[in-house]
Amino acid sequence: MPKPVLLTVDDDREVLRAIERDLRRKYAGDYRVLRAESGPAAMEILRELKLRNNSVALFLVDQRMPGLSGVEFLEQAITLYPDAKRVLLTAYADTDAAIAAINDAGINHYLLKPWDPPEENLYPVLDDLLEDWQASFPPQFEGIRVLGNRWSPASHNIKDFLARNHVPYQWLDIETARTDKEVQSVVDLLADEDKRDLPLVIFPNGLRLRQPTLADLAENAGLKTRAAEAFYDLAIVGGGPAGLAAAVYGASEGLRTVMIEREAPGGQAGMSSRIENYLGFPSGLSGADLARRAVVQARRFGVEILSAEATALRLDGPYRFLKLADGAELSCHALLVATGVQWRKLDAPGVERLTGAGIYYGAAMTEAMSAKDEDVFVIGGANSAGQAAMYFSRYARRVVMLVRGSSLAASMSQYLINQLKETPNVQIEFNSSLLEAHGEDHLESISVLCSATNEVNTVPANSLFIMIGAAPNTNWLGEVIERDERGFIYSGRDLLRDGKRPKGWPLDRDPGLLETNIPGIFVVGDVRHGSVKRVASGVGEGSVAISFVHQYLSKVI
Ligand SMILES: Cc1cc2nc3c(=O)[nH]c(=O)nc-3n(C[C@H](O)[C@H](O)[C@H](O)COP(=O)(O)OP(=O)(O)OC[C@H]3O[C@@H](n4cnc5c(N)ncnc54)[C@H](O)[C@@H]3O)c2cc1C
Repeated sequence: MPKPVLLTVDDDREVLRAIERDLRRKYAGDYRVLRAESGPAAMEILRELKLRNNSVALFLVDQRMPGLSGVEFLEQAITLYPDAKRVLLTAYADTDAAIAAINDAGINHYLLKPWDPPEENLYPVLDDLLEDWQASFPPQFEGIRVLGNRWSPASHNIKDFLARNHVPYQWLDIETARTDKEVQSVVDLLADEDKRDLPLVIFPNGLRLRQPTLADLAENAGLKTRAAEAFYDLAIVGGGPAGLAAAVYGASEGLRTVMIEREAPGGQAGMSSRIENYLGFPSGLSGADLARRAVVQARRFGVEILSAEATALRLDGPYRFLKLADGAELSCHALLVATGVQWRKLDAPGVERLTGAGIYYGAAMTEAMSAKDEDVFVIGGANSAGQAAMYFSRYARRVVMLVRGSSLAASMSQYLINQLKETPNVQIEFNSSLLEAHGEDHLESISVLCSATNEVNTVPANSLFIMIGAAPNTNWLGEVIERDERGFIYSGRDLLRDGKRPKGWPLDRDPGLLETNIPGIFVVGDVRHGSVKRVASGVGEGSVAISFVHQYLSKVI
């Protein structure tokens, strides 16, 4: 976190250098000392500091300056930093002006020039003021700031990406500028194009990105986007539980391992508000916590984690080449596909248009606070929908679950059904499906059909979360890897047709467990045909696959 700033302003260069030197000598350990040669130049610095959300502890300002006097500068400066301490440097002749200005600019102290020796005439006064400032000033948030509109899909994507990658950020909703002084002060400092092309992301180093892509965001938020090597023993595509487990086992057993993840490590599990059935965590743990722990573990063993998307696969003898979305390529001997599944889209009028603007796929935990004290609608009857409903019930006034069937028994774990029943602000509507979503630039209401009565009800709604099953992330594989009619990848014995090996299979053995129709390419987790869609089974498959990778590598190298 950057240190708070001490800003000194004087038009006399020699005096400015001398005061800067004395300030650094005593305070450089705890504060950043900045200087400016005029009031307007100092205001420029302050505007930039304000946008970056840096704190200013103290102004030490000469009174007699051309253009903007010390007092006039302080009057402007305190509109941006009302809590900073203010000290005026004056010549003897200016003391009357300084005293007169104590009330106008709320000056805490005035110092006479020269201040030598500083141990007697400068430091005691500043120590006292800075102690006072430290005691009463709450620490500022000084990470990335995202300024946007609650109903903008682009803002949602940025918040979601940062949150799931555990990058701290501060959300500033431009709609609240009229009631939130902090947001207003940031808006006032922005150029017109910044305000027009929202969302705007402001980085602690001052960089501003308007409507950034996730790749730009990843690069500037310190995530790794380019591979360090051209070749790896093992490349893993997908950083959900299955990919992470494989990465940890692969690297811990000495394989040069890269894991490529296009959104955030943790996958679907990272979006789960509470995983209650994972072995070893009797009171459950959040998906974000599980993902964070796994990433730390993977890094400790030397896994290279790339924030990138694999877009194509090509084979060249024993080498497997992965093409990434930015055009780069990397190669490996063994490849593990762990790309999981993503939410099936709900096909109803209005849904596509309003996705990201009140309608979200998955639990979108970043939106929970925005839905505080409102009604939240959740579509789906499986565990994921149940967990989301429980999570939102902590913030929302009421959570309404719309379930197509007439019971939850076949699709949801009993412990969750019990929790939902015991939560007074959760309401479950059976035999209900969404007919249409309405709204201009954001969701305003939904029409729901009850199949038992054939009645259609249109009710106000601002937040709708859809969790209705999943489709595998396998389109990027082209025709290379054999898949079932829904896109899930075949492996092992599922590839044998009437006892025959898959077409083009080159080896004198059957495809191994978790191995696809291409030797050395393995598949684990939810994306595998016939897999059990659970965190523990993904983790199990990812771990076990590494021993098959070793067997394969022992023959190929
Ligand atoms: C809300 C919710 C709650 C759940 N609760 C539980 C629970 O309580 N208990 C339980 O056991 N299971 C639960 N599950 C199921 C569990 O999360 C999944 O079974 C598990 O995450 C599957 O892991 P995976 O690694 O196979 O795939 P995923 O978790 O789907 O991860 C796949 C990853 O691959 C990435 N990816 C995809 N394509 C590409 C590409 N081309 N390039 C780079 N990266 C790519 C994706 O971004 C994703 O991060 C829940 C699921 C959800 C959604």
